[in-house]
Amino acid sequence: MIEVSKKCIGCSKCVPVCPFAAINMIDRKAVMNEACTLCGACVQVCPVQAITITREEGASRDLSGYKGVWVYVELSETGDKTHPKKIKQVTFELLSAGRRLADELGEELCAVLMTDKDQNYAKELGAYGADKVYMVEHDELFEYNTDIFSTVMVSLVTRHKPSVILYGATIQGRDLAPRVASTLYVGLTADCTALAIKDGLLLQSRPAFGGNIMADILAPNSRPQMATVRPNVMKMGEPVHGRSPLVVRESAKLDRSLRRVKVLERKIAHDAAAVKIENANIIVSGGRGMKTKDKFKQLEELSKLLGGVVGASRAAVDLGFKEKTHQVGQSGTTVSPKLYLSFGISGAVQHIVGMKASDVIIAVNKDPNAPIFNVAKYGIVGDAHEIVPKLTEALKKLKK
Ligand code: FAD
Ligand code: SF4
Ligand code: SF4
Repeated sequence: MIEVSKKCIGCSKCVPVCPFAAINMIDRKAVMNEACTLCGACVQVCPVQAITITREEGASRDLSGYKGVWVYVELSETGDKTHPKKIKQVTFELLSAGRRLADELGEELCAVLMTDKDQNYAKELGAYGADKVYMVEHDELFEYNTDIFSTVMVSLVTRHKPSVILYGATIQGRDLAPRVASTLYVGLTADCTALAIKDGLLLQSRPAFGGNIMADILAPNSRPQMATVRPNVMKMGEPVHGRSPLVVRESAKLDRSLRRVKVLERKIAHDAAAVKIENANIIVSGGRGMKTKDKFKQLEELSKLLGGVVGASRAAVDLGFKEKTHQVGQSGTTVSPKLYLSFGISGAVQHIVGMKASDVIIAVNKDPNAPIFNVAKYGIVGDAHEIVPKLTEALKKLKK
């Protein structure tokens, strides 16, 4: 329910920001009509806090109308003038996970896309499992902005009532999802490592207490159930080309004044290492067992010969063996290469959560009881300082 109190001074500031033309000025007072989706945009701009939105809470809410699994589609810039933006891989990973959840619930899988220009994205989203694409095309969506994107998302949710929404745990997803959650007064589980359906609810699993236990989280009294998932955590399914999702074009009247943050200058400071490690096919990783920075450097040559990227445990980063951007794990980057080679890493749970999705893990550790062997396909009990040079020499010979 939305109400305007006596405090309203008739300034009309709320009128242009309403994306749904739901506010009329009557007798110098704002009056909301039935087009209101409770998006909250007007609340933000009212200078005298005259507008209040009351949402039903907890068990008293009727949740039966909430259906469907949604995935927020994230776009990234390509630098190419003809196709300036592309869908980020994490979206396809979430669609693949969302497909399983939607099938289990017997509901639709929908992608939600906000953009200034549709580049025929629906085709790709359909190939990864979307039954439907909610498409909002508007000039104001030319770049991500918290106020604009959250307003649109909240209004779509209020209108269509999805049961589940998944976001990438990216800079954008981590900004948008909490904003949507707080506006809608629903929960949000960040950095989920597994998602499943239990008794019709979304079972959200994530490491807790510093990664020492896995917590299973359910939200029985609120909808939508919302979760963020890091890139590379969910396996991306094979695309099925030719599947065409239903495209539902949603209109939104977006006013520039809604945008409280204005971008004055953009400096793209891409962290090349982080981007590289996130998408690498081969990672040669080292831990405290590499002993010194010089010895750790041996991994560079090995990695080069294999065409890979060097990774590091947090201990190795803390000891200054490698930059933080190369750290694999819970507080570093989550990776899923085809081959993950680990030297002198014990296999603490915080490291494992960041690399266990790798196709093949080969671990070298001199302790036969090191936990890294529990996730390794091939384990070598031995001294990394003997094995790394031998492996490097053998590869050099092979290359000749
Ligand atoms: P150690 O645990 O000290 O292991 C060194 C291993 O090297 C041992 O198993 C030893 O047997 C072996 N070894 C020694 N000498 C040799 C040799 N000559 N040859 C072969 N093997 C040898 N850690 C991460 O990695 N990534 C994270 O993102 C991360 N995030 C964290 C977040 C939180 C909130 C917390 C609390 C911790 C986090 N950690 C993270 C730290 C994590 O708990 C471990 O402390 C860390 O992973 C240990 O790194 P390591 O395996 O290199 O060192
Ligand atoms: Fe306010 Fe949003 Fe309702 Fe418009 S749709 S009246 S901006 S809450
Ligand atoms: Fe009234 Fe606030 Fe709207 Fe101004 S912004 S017209 S004070 S409700």
